[in-house]
Amino acid sequence: MDMRLGRQRSTRGRPLLVVAATVAVAAALLWLFRLGSAPDISLATDNPALGAATRVLARFAARGPGLTTIRLELQQGNRTVVLAEEHFPAAGPFEAGTRSAELAATAGYKPQPWLAEGEAVLRASAERTAGPLRRARQAVIERSVAVRREPPRLEVVSRQHYVRQGGAGLVVFRTGKTTTRSGVRAGDAESVSFPAPAGGTGERFALFGVPWRLANSLQVVLFAEDDAGHRVEQRFLDRFRARPPGRDTITLTDEFLARVVPSILANTPDFTASGSPLEQFLAINGRLREVTARRLAEITFTSEQRFAWSGPFLQMPGTERRANFAEERTYRYQGRVVDRQTHLGLDLASVAGAPVPAANAGTVVFAGWLGIYGNAVVVDHGYGLASLYGHFSSLAVAQGATVRSGQTLGASGATGLAGGDHLHFEILVQGRSVDPIEWLDGKWIRDNLTSKMPRLQ
Ligand SMILES: [Zn+2]
Repeated sequence: MDMRLGRQRSTRGRPLLVVAATVAVAAALLWLFRLGSAPDISLATDNPALGAATRVLARFAARGPGLTTIRLELQQGNRTVVLAEEHFPAAGPFEAGTRSAELAATAGYKPQPWLAEGEAVLRASAERTAGPLRRARQAVIERSVAVRREPPRLEVVSRQHYVRQGGAGLVVFRTGKTTTRSGVRAGDAESVSFPAPAGGTGERFALFGVPWRLANSLQVVLFAEDDAGHRVEQRFLDRFRARPPGRDTITLTDEFLARVVPSILANTPDFTASGSPLEQFLAINGRLREVTARRLAEITFTSEQRFAWSGPFLQMPGTERRANFAEERTYRYQGRVVDRQTHLGLDLASVAGAPVPAANAGTVVFAGWLGIYGNAVVVDHGYGLASLYGHFSSLAVAQGATVRSGQTLGASGATGLAGGDHLHFEILVQGRSVDPIEWLDGKWIRDNLTSKMPRLQ
């Protein structure tokens, strides 16, 4: 019995011993030969293609004994150059080697003038530490990249570009297939282009605004950028009219401050202003004005790629113009100048609570309280064109509604920063205010927009 039990015990233990021995041998072999995974490599470039000079970054990571040699190469045809290389000392048996490293280099026709238009290969390789009984393991990754020696092409198709400071315009042009971004730059404001609907092959158009501050026509140019980091700019204006801003003085009374300040603060809980009513007003007129402008740029950032509008924009009927676009306002309180701001729309007044029509067809992209504009509506007309209506006493539309030209958006009022019942009306091109007067003028629309792109109407 005992013997059998003993025998049984020993036969049961034998497979465990075999397993243990196998594991030990495998561990010894792994240690001797340092098998395991090859190094990990990633390759990143600043631009998808190689132009004049593109930054290339290779990242290497290895487990176990670490890296020995890392290398970054550029090949085109039979020619291969090493862009960067580094060797690390071999780690001892009980030391951790270099586990991660980076190689950065610049590739392009400036550092490598022999590069020709076409394809090239970027190659990053890494070797893992070798030893007397272990193999070095190499890992290689390659990426095929286009080499572009030519900057993108720009060809203006439309003619007679007459533009005013603070105004808008439209240009039709062609650009090459490698162009990734194009449009009009006016000072530091860029208006991007869109494929011309039903246009000729490769035709694009840009509806652009010239900032009210920009008086230098040399700063209004067509631009194109490609995937290799090239950027070209070309002048296209035939005439530019500078337009000095108008001026106005607003006298602040305690009664006005007591009416507008608490109401604006109550309706904009994210905004805080402290101090006297005048100090709170100055915070609203300065900081909240900027916050509102940024919010407006966000609201109008997404725009439908279609012309939702047609014909001239409507001025609210029966209204008198009380203030113009780009008027520099001086604010006085108790006889002294306390602030200066620029008014970026038209102020149109008729009777209190008058219906405010949509100036043209589009989609309501905002309806609610909008900073200094009080109750406001923003209508998107497509391709980055939007209209803003401010100071409503009540709203008749909600966000998402499609409106036709003349449809009532709400009733006029004096909410937000308004001295009395009126409509504040703005036109925005890609988030920036332009003079609305041009858009109310059918002849201006024909001469500057429709004639350049007849498919627009
Ligand atoms: Zn206004």
